[in-house]
Amino acid sequence: MIHIEFIKNEPQNSATEKTMTVAEIQAYPKTRLDMSAFQEKCPMEPPQEKTLEAHDNKSYSGLLPAEVGTDYSFKRKIVWKNAIGFFALHLAAVYGLWLMVADCYWKTDIWALLVGFSSGLGVTTGAHRLFSHKAYKAPFITRLVLILFHTLAGQNCLYIWVRDHRQHHKYSDTDADPHNAHRGFFFSHVGWLMSRKHPAVIAKGKTIDMSDMQADWLVMFQKQHYKVLYAIFAIFLPAVVPVYSWGESWWNSFFVAYMFRSVLVLNMTWLVNSAAHIWGNKPFDKYMEPVESSFVAFVSVGEGWHNYHHAFPWDYRAAELGSKYSITTFVIDALAYFGLAYDLKSTPYHMVKRRVERTGDGSHPIFGPHAEKLESTGKLDDVDIADIVKSKEVGLVRRLPTAQG
Ligand SMILES: [Zn+2]
Ligand SMILES: [Zn+2]
Repeated sequence: MIHIEFIKNEPQNSATEKTMTVAEIQAYPKTRLDMSAFQEKCPMEPPQEKTLEAHDNKSYSGLLPAEVGTDYSFKRKIVWKNAIGFFALHLAAVYGLWLMVADCYWKTDIWALLVGFSSGLGVTTGAHRLFSHKAYKAPFITRLVLILFHTLAGQNCLYIWVRDHRQHHKYSDTDADPHNAHRGFFFSHVGWLMSRKHPAVIAKGKTIDMSDMQADWLVMFQKQHYKVLYAIFAIFLPAVVPVYSWGESWWNSFFVAYMFRSVLVLNMTWLVNSAAHIWGNKPFDKYMEPVESSFVAFVSVGEGWHNYHHAFPWDYRAAELGSKYSITTFVIDALAYFGLAYDLKSTPYHMVKRRVERTGDGSHPIFGPHAEKLESTGKLDDVDIADIVKSKEVGLVRRLPTAQG
């Protein structure tokens, strides 16, 4: 079915290309189809536009990732129950922050941050790099601890987290991406969780291969008993420790170690979907929306090097460079050192270089214009060095030998 539809569309695409100059075609995004640019240049209606109007699940099943696009006329329906729930959760988190500063034991503060950090690692080291991308392998004990940490975060069960994330990569910034950043910061940050799903998300969600997750009894156990596990690991356990260990009140413990802590980690995770798809540079692939963001990398323990990550999603570092720029990578390296992680996948240096030269936006400090100059003249002058320092990526230059290794 997919094949038939693709062939059916082909003559229209060829006709379209005839109306464009060779230079325009060459400049045309190869990895993502920008619908607005396409419509501007193309006198014929793009074939997928008709399908988008239909707004029913089946219409999307035959489309290829690059053909889905974003239909800006689509009106999303707000799920008020979720919207009010998230609003209340954030109010409670602000109250928790006030208690944290003004009322509770300092040990409770440290505990809340420690739980938050562990749950964050459960998301980045576990849900993201191990389970979603299979960027490395891990023995049972590592997977068990990471699933427990992931449960602490309260970001839905691992199965749904992984499905949504794989779908996000496959259909990035189109209507089939659960948090399509073309719909703005708020939608990609939290709005998608308080809106009814776009029909393309539903249709394409069913096509995501989850067989490895289905075969993992640990993942399926968490899925099956998620509500109970959430109540124990995300709410009760973080709240009970301060009460019985140093006499914190239940009230303070609940609002600091559960409410504030979980909302903080939620927002740090969401920033990867929102800010890291909007504000930053694209040294590896300028045809996609994900960007490099040192701010997001800092708050998300190393997940903000997002242009690289979308270009090379299998790389366990989720960044060009290693643990110095990512706590998560440091943790995986440490696990590997102790034999608790193995088969770490990374991208060969020459492949990164080729991709930067082919699709980068020129902001890469090594493979960009400075690299060409360095290669031809053998040196960089003070202005070049200042440029690199200004780009705040000076660390990349220092780390070049590591990148080669
Ligand atoms: Zn992304
Ligand atoms: Zn990813």
